[in-house]
Amino acid sequence: MAKQPMLKFVKIDRDMPEKRAAEDRKEDFNEIYAEFAQAKAEEQASRCSQCGVPYCQSHCPLHNNIPDWLRLTATGRLEEAYATSQATNTFPEICGRICPQDRLCEGNCVIEQSGHGTVTIGAVEKYITDTAWENGWVKPFTPLQERGESVGIIGAGPGGLAAADMLRRAGVQVTIYDRYDRAGGLLTYGIPGFKLEKDVVMRRNQLLADSGVTFVMNCNVGEDISFEDIRGKHDAVIIATGVYKSRDLSMPGSGAAGIVKAIDFLTASNKRSFGDTVPEFESGELNAEGKKVVVIGGGDTAMDCVRTSIREGATSVKCLYRRDRANMPGSQRETQNAEEEGVIFEWLSAPKGFVDSDGTVTGVMVQKMRLGAADATGRQAPEVIEGADYVEEADLVIKALGFEPEDLPTLWGQPELPVTRWGTVKAEFKSGATDLPGVYAVGDIVRGASLVVWAIKDGRDCAEAILERFDAKAAVAAE
Ligand SMILES: Cc1cc2nc3c(=O)[nH]c(=O)nc-3n(C[C@H](O)[C@H](O)[C@H](O)COP(=O)(O)OP(=O)(O)OC[C@H]3O[C@@H](n4cnc5c(N)ncnc54)[C@H](O)[C@@H]3O)c2cc1C
Ligand code: SF4
Repeated sequence: MAKQPMLKFVKIDRDMPEKRAAEDRKEDFNEIYAEFAQAKAEEQASRCSQCGVPYCQSHCPLHNNIPDWLRLTATGRLEEAYATSQATNTFPEICGRICPQDRLCEGNCVIEQSGHGTVTIGAVEKYITDTAWENGWVKPFTPLQERGESVGIIGAGPGGLAAADMLRRAGVQVTIYDRYDRAGGLLTYGIPGFKLEKDVVMRRNQLLADSGVTFVMNCNVGEDISFEDIRGKHDAVIIATGVYKSRDLSMPGSGAAGIVKAIDFLTASNKRSFGDTVPEFESGELNAEGKKVVVIGGGDTAMDCVRTSIREGATSVKCLYRRDRANMPGSQRETQNAEEEGVIFEWLSAPKGFVDSDGTVTGVMVQKMRLGAADATGRQAPEVIEGADYVEEADLVIKALGFEPEDLPTLWGQPELPVTRWGTVKAEFKSGATDLPGVYAVGDIVRGASLVVWAIKDGRDCAEAILERFDAKAAVAAE
């Protein structure tokens, strides 16, 4: 008998976990949402309408069994809810925190279409797995049988880690190579702690290490070890290197000191959260304290930069974006959070150049824009409004204009590695297989800058394809 019947959306309103007040959260890098109490999680889960064809599930890249784990949560069967959630998602508590749910699962929740607020799917997913960690249900695993095959994975971001998890569970010997000192990729050094606290990522890395995955850190493939060497050591190789080449601005004054890349700024801040000494932060180069900060860009990286600047003690933080609010690529939820924390958005504003004093930036020359006719993609193209230029004062300018892939064929001396005209690795849909025998690719290096949940999906699919190949080979050998 269910403790808590479902379909309560008619009587119970949508409610998110409590959000810390802006004045309080501006003071630290801790997450801004509290955890649901059990009764609240049960109540919110019970709002689900248990659709026969769940659109939330079909719009979740991992096709999570959302109605099932909501029902199990609503009826207090949390350990089963965790098992169900974990069956399709390697890092449910991470997705629960940082997936743009409004564009994925929650954006397609049927009860919202009927005028009620969506089920708080992300917050419940986070609650289930955080509870599982607290209760010791998340344990290192020992494969039923060790296998002889080994896989080398280049890149310890969510794509590489998700593949490692699946392969190791099947008994494969897995080695991950990463040029950073800590695993997690952008989960560790890109996304700030106020969206995803670092111990949430570190405990996942430790779990994989405790389950027998070997991590080779501080190892830049192409410099410290060659791609060929890695191929020679393993039966299959997965490229999961993400995209790290920052898009740049080439305009008058753009070489001035005080104009920095978003990834450098965020990495420095995240390293400091671990207690590391970061010389570029200590010198002030990557430190927003006491500065007038201008961030250029309107995506999620820009939102992370403005909110990090606030927490570092900037005197003012402005964000310049060439389109308007409705047409920005970043999440509306994060924009609202930034506004609450004191960020000022200058919509329809684009940089034209930079002003400096003795080579150090003092301002951004801004041109005002309006939205004109739609371009080939259907988006209205921004046009300059003549005669409306002005100078926005700035001591620190952060460029958050997006990322492109590094030139892997050149960096790794592998001209035969197939890439697209954008430089992403050309890989087969689903399996991630490339034209190089035994070489696979997953995550941002295939899709271009994307989402954590898609990297996880790619990693899992690729691991499945590799296991199928190993099994087929073993079957032939046995014959
Ligand atoms: C600031 C920022 C905020 C974001 N916020 C969100 C968000 O809120 N929600 C969301 O879903 N997505 C977000 N994203 C996107 C998300 O982080 C990425 O889509 C995801 O991390 C991609 O995973 P990946 O495994 O492909 O690559 P990454 O996470 O980039 O990991 C790649 C790893 O490969 C390593 N590597 C690269 N080259 C080499 C080499 N030559 N040798 C050895 N190691 C190498 C890197 O050190 C890194 O550890 C954000 C991205 C950024 C930049
Ligand atoms: S993984 Fe992301 S899209 Fe899927 S249910 Fe969780 S929060 Fe929603």
